[in-house]
Amino acid sequence: MIDAPVKNSKKLTEENPNFSLFNQLANYEHEQVVVCSDPEVGLKAIIAIHNTTLGPALGGTRMWNYESEEAAIKDVLRLSRGMSYKAAISGLNLGGGKAVIIGDPHTEKTEALFRSFGRFVDGLGGRYITAEDVGMTEREMEWIYSETKYVTGIPKALGGSGNPSPVTAYGVYMGVKACAKKAYGSDSLEGKKIALQGAGNVASYFARHAAKEGAKLYICDIYEDKAKELAEEVGGELVDPDDIYGLDVDIYTPCALGGVINDDTMDQFKCDIIAGGANNVLDDEDKHGQQLLDKGIIYAPDYVINAGGLINIASELEGYNEERALQNAGNIYNTITDILNYSEDHGTPAHVASNDLAEKRIKTIGHIKNKYSSKANVSGRLGEVYKRFID
Ligand code: NAD
Repeated sequence: MIDAPVKNSKKLTEENPNFSLFNQLANYEHEQVVVCSDPEVGLKAIIAIHNTTLGPALGGTRMWNYESEEAAIKDVLRLSRGMSYKAAISGLNLGGGKAVIIGDPHTEKTEALFRSFGRFVDGLGGRYITAEDVGMTEREMEWIYSETKYVTGIPKALGGSGNPSPVTAYGVYMGVKACAKKAYGSDSLEGKKIALQGAGNVASYFARHAAKEGAKLYICDIYEDKAKELAEEVGGELVDPDDIYGLDVDIYTPCALGGVINDDTMDQFKCDIIAGGANNVLDDEDKHGQQLLDKGIIYAPDYVINAGGLINIASELEGYNEERALQNAGNIYNTITDILNYSEDHGTPAHVASNDLAEKRIKTIGHIKNKYSSKANVSGRLGEVYKRFID
């Protein structure tokens, strides 16, 4: 039975009178923003498509109780642009997109709301492919999936790829090895001391790979039992969450929360390498990215080293095969190597290097696509004419 409609209870605050959506789109170079409204079921959603040069825009749907429409728009623009870079640097033939649903994920979820949203996604005809993000669970994804096929990262039971964490963790492990190669001339983790922040999904799989290779792990989690259990499993040591930044280790691997490289932690780091699965680890990207470079700490940009999750759900689009997904995630080794070399050659922080390389790939592939090919998607009346020759 379809649940009773729940209206978004929170009243959105007054907007900044100088806010211009078109200026925002022009600044970030977005292609399209779709505003989805269905008051009957309480749906207020925004889909942003940043760039489709490489392929359809892929990115998750986030449900969040934004304090204003402006905040929701800014977030979806920022996140969708990030997805273009992530897909491009990961060698995927996908563009960047993202969707946000404005509402309280604890109290405002109904079947009708998500099925209505699914219809809007479907209406885009595959220009945007959605997936799970913050505030969403498998249940809501199934509701969306019942209205559109343009969904990926669906549960294994429905023929999808399921939990992406093993593939994400493998990519992180390979990225850490690439950093080790740059720092020490060998990518072996044998005997390396690693401070692992978090003992959740990604951290656990990562710890097993690293321990197997002979690394010594120092593990913390705000849930001490979790960290203790993992430390026992991999022969590591339990540490206090507050002590993780200043440990005398070779590598710091953040696998918990964002913003951990900040004004308070910067001077504590004694490691040679920072590389881990957590998103948005640089509190202030430009400032802290530059400071890491100045301190001579090798940094693997978060959105590159944790792209295994995206690679995993992208594989689902071609018919999921875990072995192939792991193989593609393993390529993060080469990507990180390229970024670190570029960073060294140009004297730029690693996150700037990866943005440059991502932009370069979009530009180059865009250039190639300028030429007519039999697979070219020529739209409109001419498309219909040419289709006769193509099919
Ligand atoms: P998770 O929830 O399974 O694990 C996170 C762990 O961090 C939890 O055990 C939590 O208790 C712990 N934690 C939270 N705050 C902490 C703190 N201050 N100190 C120590 N531990 C703390 O999440 P996950 O799926 O393993 O994801 C970890 C990170 O990787 C997140 O930032 C996530 O956005 C990112 N990421 C995950 C994937 C994926 O495939 N799961 C993909 C890309 C990025």
